[in-house]
Amino acid sequence: MSRSISYITSSQLLSLKRRPNIAIVDVRDDERSYDGHIAGSLHFASDTFLDKIPSLIDAAKGKDTLVFHCALSQVRGPRCARRFADYLAEMKEDAGIKNIMILERGYNGWEASGRPVCRCTEIPCKGDSKVPSV
Ligand SMILES: [Zn+2]
Repeated sequence: MSRSISYITSSQLLSLKRRPNIAIVDVRDDERSYDGHIAGSLHFASDTFLDKIPSLIDAAKGKDTLVFHCALSQVRGPRCARRFADYLAEMKEDAGIKNIMILERGYNGWEASGRPVCRCTEIPCKGDSKVPSV
């Protein structure tokens, strides 16, 4: 049985982001390195995504909500979210993850609506600690 995947808007994500139990998973490929990214997001490129699922589960330890996105969240984001859900279903474990979501309109929509972006080159991004609270 495969779990359902829901969509979340950028404004919903912005308010959820303050919770410590959410992980944002950027599955863009090269674009991440020159387009900026959502502060604190993890990077698991779609082209190697399947192989990296175990390390994603590791990186998301302690989180119960994973939000996937790519540039537009039309192809890569939903596909990786689905693969991740299928993987958990096959493993018959949930790794503590209750919600799998997709960011509507992806990174481009996030940036276009003026949400804060991070342009650091750190891996993993620690951007959240540097974002001034408003
Ligand atoms: Zn960053």
